[in-house]
Amino acid sequence: MDSSAQRRLIEEVANVVISHADELTTLDQAIGDGDHGLNMKRGALAILERLDDLAAKPLPDALKAAGQTLVMKVGGASGPLYGTLLMTLGKDLPMAPSRDELVRAVGLAVAAVKKIGRSDVGQKTMLDVLGPVHEELASGGSGLVDRVRQRGAAAADATVPMKAIKGRASFLGERSIGHMDPGARSASLMIAAVCTVMED
Ligand code: ADP
Ligand code: MG
Repeated sequence: MDSSAQRRLIEEVANVVISHADELTTLDQAIGDGDHGLNMKRGALAILERLDDLAAKPLPDALKAAGQTLVMKVGGASGPLYGTLLMTLGKDLPMAPSRDELVRAVGLAVAAVKKIGRSDVGQKTMLDVLGPVHEELASGGSGLVDRVRQRGAAAADATVPMKAIKGRASFLGERSIGHMDPGARSASLMIAAVCTVMED
């Protein structure tokens, strides 16, 4: 990926978060404390402020730096979790990764989120999108980018009937059922943005 493609990737992901901040906030108002949109928007703006610097770095270094920015700037549970995802991805991704290397690095990054969140797939969190997306990516085959995007969106939808077991939403118990998890939604939005850039 050259630096102009990398710049587009960063912009697309940051912009989708900014343009959906209100939606993410509304989702978090239903089952959390209503700050997910604001938290994520703050992170996205901090990333855009460093756009020149991030676009110029080799991809692994850019991911590490973006992850560190999220840990520092995004409050709440989601900052350290998304920050860890990107920092681990940066650490484990080679300069010009093959698909197998990408699958492996994404797997390690998702595992790192589980570790620091003390959480797993099935608990109504961002992991309910990240896990299935990693699985789809690993399955390979034709139309992969489109399948990954669709899997991410379907996985976010599938959090609606789930009962939250981790994070603030778990305080609601049964009352968390019937709402999409905000972190699952932000994950699916960012994955869709990555897919859009990959397709061009
Ligand atoms: P906070 O919950 O601290 O207010 P945010 O609102 O920014 O932070 O983020 C909430 C989202 O973070 C949830 O919707 C969920 O997807 C994710 N999340 C919270 N706790 C965990 C956890 N332990 N493991 C994985 N994801 C989590
Ligand atoms: Mg919140």
